[in-house]
This record gives sequence, C-alpha cells and structure tokens, in this order.
Amino acid sequence: MNHKLNCDFHVHTYLDACCPRKEEQIPRKVVCRAQELGLTALGFVVHYYSSDEGLRLTRQLKEDLAHLDQGSLRVFLGVEADLPAPGKETITRQEIEDLDLDFVILAPNHFHIDFYSRPSPLTPENARDAWLAGLHAAIDSGLADIIPHPIINLHNALGDMNRVLEVTSDAQILEFCEHAREKDIALDVNPRLFTEKEWWKPELQFRFYRLCRKAGVNLSPCSDSHQLSEIGDTFKLSLYDGDIGWTPDDFIDADWVASRRERCLSRGNQ
Ligand SMILES: [Zn+2]
Ligand SMILES: [Zn+2]
Repeated sequence: MNHKLNCDFHVHTYLDACCPRKEEQIPRKVVCRAQELGLTALGFVVHYYSSDEGLRLTRQLKEDLAHLDQGSLRVFLGVEADLPAPGKETITRQEIEDLDLDFVILAPNHFHIDFYSRPSPLTPENARDAWLAGLHAAIDSGLADIIPHPIINLHNALGDMNRVLEVTSDAQILEFCEHAREKDIALDVNPRLFTEKEWWKPELQFRFYRLCRKAGVNLSPCSDSHQLSEIGDTFKLSLYDGDIGWTPDDFIDADWVASRRERCLSRGNQ
C-alpha cells in the first residue's frame, strides 16, 4: 500500500449545502473517523462560491478546527474556490491572506453550476477547448495549490466526456500536466472518479493519470468526502496501482502542503 494514501486533502463538512448528513459531517467526528482508519493528515475545505458566503463559512470552519482534539493527526484549513471563466476566480489573494489559509483548491470545471460559462455550440471540440482553457487558467491564476478532479463532467454539462477525450490528444493533456508541474501545483485524485459509469468511462481517468505520471506532476490524494462513509476512500487508490503504475513519489503529503505556502510567498506568489 502506498503510505501517502493516508493523507486526504479534500474533505467537506456540514457547512456545505451539498453534504447530505450534516449531523455526522462535523470536523470532530471526521477527525475521530480518520484516526480510527489510520489517516495522518486531513485538509478541510468549504465550497467558496462567492466572497461573502465563502468568508463566512471559512471563518466558521476555522473556528471549528481551533477546538479540535486532533492528536497527532495534521489538520489543514483550505477552500475549494471556483474559476467559472478565466480570470474570474471566486476568491482573491487578499481573502486567502486574511483567512490565513493553508491551501487553496481551485476548481475550473464545475460546469454543471449555473455561474459557469459553457461553450456554444456544445461540440466535443468546443467542450475540450473550454475544459483545457479552464485548467490552464487555474494554474495561471497564481492562487491554486491543488486543482481538483481534472476530469469531471457532472450531469454531462460538457456533453459526452468520452467524446471530449476522443478529440483530445495526449500532447494536449501532457501540456497541461507539465504546466502544473512547472508551477508546483498538485492535481487531486479521487478513487470515486474511477468507478463512475454514468458520465465518463474509468479508462478516461486511467489515461489521464498515466500521462500525469509521464509528466511527473504531483498528485494529491483526496476523497472529496461529503459524508463520513467516504473518509478513508484515499486508501482505495491502491486498487489502481496496476492500471496507472503510480508510486509514493507521485503523491504529495502533509509536509508538501505545510511548506507550499511558504514556497509561494518566497517567490512572490508565483
Ligand atoms: Zn469539486
Ligand atoms: Zn469538493
């Protein structure tokens, strides 16, 4: 088993409307569950859809985390902000500093949410261009530490993702992975994306993460947990060792997250 899979840098809480069982997804219970399962690091996030709501929720999360009995578990405060169009981040650098965040996940691909711009007409080629432009823009924003679910297409918002990947070359995917590597940004990897059958085939994920390995970009183990039963899902990534061939060196750990912000500051936020 890959020992870095005992970290999870993408965990939601009761503060997010999309968590179905608010009474169980509270940081104290999540931490207890994580300790039982042998996790060593957790990164909590709130969906940061707008400044007002995002600031309020993140301050509440910070307050909750301040009162945790976390033992040796390392706990980080983060957000999952959005980039609905290039240059339109839902969080500002000032807010990141004011909140004293440990890390920022910046999603450029929640295309199913209304405030995202979707290509028109929605051809596979246009969808590919919008998808890749968003990924590159998330890197260029200078605000992201981790980019979540690089291949996702909830509710088929971009049309058939299998078709989108058919018209995407390995070179185009590699260009993005190498861009992320150059900027020292990690791409998260969630085992539940490998078992989705309705909106994309698992092979799309295998292909993408094999190219990540080829490019040498860092991967962030994540569960994107919205309920307690999903804590510990990062261990399931080892099921795909054979399909993808990843090793512990491909994954970030708590030290990477802890030092990432200092590295950014020392080079002027990239
Ligand atoms: Zn997301
Ligand atoms: Zn999430």
